[in-house]
Amino acid sequence: MIDVIIAGGGPTGVMLASELRLHGVGVLVLEKDAEPTRVVRALGLHARSIEVLDQRGLLERFLPLGQQHPLGGFFAGIRKPRPKRLDTAHPYVLGMPQPVIDRLLTERALELGAEIRRGGELTELSQDEEGVSAELADGTRLRARYLVGCDGGRSTVRKLLGVGFPGEAATAETLLGEMEITEDWETVAAIMAEVRKTQLRFGVMPLGDGAYRVGVPAAGVAEDRTVPPTLEEVRQQLRAIAGTDFGVHSPRWLSRFGDATRLAERYRTGRVLLAGDAAHIHPPNGGQGLNLGLQDAFNLGWKLAAAVNGWGPEDLLDSYQAERRPVAADVLANTRAQMELILTEPGPQAARRLVSELMDFEEVNRYLTEKVTGIGVRYDFGPGPELIGRHLRDVGLKQGRLYGLLHGGRGLLLDQTGGLSVAGWAGQVDYVADVSDELDVPAVLLRPDGHVAWAGDDQGELLGQLPRWFGAAVR
Ligand SMILES: Cc1cc2nc3c(=O)[nH]c(=O)nc-3n(C[C@H](O)[C@H](O)[C@H](O)COP(=O)(O)OP(=O)(O)OC[C@H]3O[C@@H](n4cnc5c(N)ncnc54)[C@H](O)[C@@H]3O)c2cc1C
Repeated sequence: MIDVIIAGGGPTGVMLASELRLHGVGVLVLEKDAEPTRVVRALGLHARSIEVLDQRGLLERFLPLGQQHPLGGFFAGIRKPRPKRLDTAHPYVLGMPQPVIDRLLTERALELGAEIRRGGELTELSQDEEGVSAELADGTRLRARYLVGCDGGRSTVRKLLGVGFPGEAATAETLLGEMEITEDWETVAAIMAEVRKTQLRFGVMPLGDGAYRVGVPAAGVAEDRTVPPTLEEVRQQLRAIAGTDFGVHSPRWLSRFGDATRLAERYRTGRVLLAGDAAHIHPPNGGQGLNLGLQDAFNLGWKLAAAVNGWGPEDLLDSYQAERRPVAADVLANTRAQMELILTEPGPQAARRLVSELMDFEEVNRYLTEKVTGIGVRYDFGPGPELIGRHLRDVGLKQGRLYGLLHGGRGLLLDQTGGLSVAGWAGQVDYVADVSDELDVPAVLLRPDGHVAWAGDDQGELLGQLPRWFGAAVR
């Protein structure tokens, strides 16, 4: 009996595997592809994901391989300066191609002892009270206590569960690929500037190694989007949209993506859960999908570990859907809005101008930036001060930094009074008495995902909160 099978070795799956391994949970990741894909979808990480990496001591691996871009301009591509006073110690985008992100996260999961089985395609599953049975394409049968579908937008797990995926089908499709061009860059840039006045789904981006990332609207919506376009299809669309094909040749890869927007009806069915694109799909505007998946995994990992290790309160695992599904619904809504704002008809263009004017107000700019970067997320933990349910930014302490205390994936009581106690929960919660000039509450209780569960100085109140997240006290 395996503790947890994760179907899908994309960023969500391997992130979840690491989070589970931090708690000693046995993990098998099944990945149907024999080799990592060369297709580059995401191009970077937003502030909340950067914080998540920092909270696990992983950021040092990522920073040297990425480029820090200033924040701003991520909502519908409306260019604005970075809002001041963003609630994060990492107010930038970390530019990095998805295959690099995937590789670093995979390396980490392997180091922590996760097993990753490439060429392992899940095809069947069933569950009973004790566990989940899974069958692979090669006939292998496996049994686990829990199974998580991190198997992308066309999720087999979701379909086998019969979980509905309502939303809107794709109405527009974009062809994307990396290729070489014969036209000189100055000419390409001039044509692009002209075309983008009316077509924001067209773009050519130099990759710095002789190749270019080319995106161009498709003529229609393909019946099967898993079939990549041909180079000729890309050429034709470039001619139709830009008046020239720039002499594109020697593609490294070609792909197509649509603007479908869908949200799983539920994230948990008994012992089987969904995370990442398996639970939500939306257009890539603002670069949010991979980030959303990583944060799903970060929310789910410790809760599932608590269920496996037997200390989780009854409803802790259900809080995963209660907390993360509304966040995904919000991302779906903001990408729908962004898709409207990049249309070229007079109505959407007028709306775009209006939103652009509104974004000149610092508050509006900050609100939208916090939305797209994930740092604005506040889980509903019930009534309480604004801090409760939010992430806590990294703050300096007398001895080190807050995020340095979260690497093990455990809960944390940071006590500036020195008089509180988490005795009884020592198995799950670390206690640190230290002070910070940047923290204006006497003490905070952080969950393993860094969200604030409680703040104050009253031991009685604290004792009321600890069981909710960390189970019964052990005497
Ligand atoms: C053009 C484009 C640009 C994007 N840009 C950004 C961006 O800048 N920022 C951002 O945050 N997001 C971006 N995204 C979205 C991002 O790529 C996805 O949200 C992200 O890859 C989702 O990760 P995942 O692990 O949930 O799913 P996936 O990455 O789809 O991984 C799922 C894995 O499951 C495997 N699998 C599928 N079925 C099975 C099965 N039956 N058994 C075993 N394995 C299976 C697949 O082979 C795959 O490896 C972009 C997407 C596109 C299309």
